[in-house]
Amino acid sequence: MVVIVVKLPKKVKIGFMRYNVEYPVVFEDDSTTAGLHFGVFGSIQVSKISSNGLHEVFHGIDLIFCCDALSENTVEKISKAWIQVIADNDLFIKDENKYPKEVKIGPFKYAVSIGHNDFKGTIGDVVSAHNSEQLCLKVATRNGKEFHPIYVKSNFMHVLFCAIIASYSIEAHADDVKNFNWKIFSNGVYQVFFENNLEELIKAHF
Ligand SMILES: [Zn+2]
Repeated sequence: MVVIVVKLPKKVKIGFMRYNVEYPVVFEDDSTTAGLHFGVFGSIQVSKISSNGLHEVFHGIDLIFCCDALSENTVEKISKAWIQVIADNDLFIKDENKYPKEVKIGPFKYAVSIGHNDFKGTIGDVVSAHNSEQLCLKVATRNGKEFHPIYVKSNFMHVLFCAIIASYSIEAHADDVKNFNWKIFSNGVYQVFFENNLEELIKAHF
């Protein structure tokens, strides 16, 4: 049996906001509450009964980067999917020059192709693309100058997110779509995981 352990930081930076994380919290009025996110107070509370400690952090990313566009159900799906992907892979989020050779997303394995010569599909002018078996990053230049490695890594995080959405059949709820953009959300995920070292706090134990 695989057990995924998510340790929580005491503080978390989400965009410009600074959150305090309280864990474990006992919610007296409703013992089934797994956690609460209070954007206006910069406060995240997580119950000791929570099976998904980062769920509230993803509410924070949604609020700060995407105007609180996502439904509860979508936040739950996205946070669980990211936790699996972080637990089962080494994404080298803190090292913009390093990439995994392949990424396991749910039951699927995607090869990571840097440079686009062996990518099965068209990539054109864009920096990243994916199909059902590959994540591809183009080594892009403009006016003879290479793109900044952090910018390229943010595109890896985005194309990874696109593959996560496809693998887990996640859809932004119809009411949310007008304010919602997956690229902006994935920029938020990259910033939050990078600045708070969250990748180190999620581990799968076999
Ligand atoms: Zn929630």
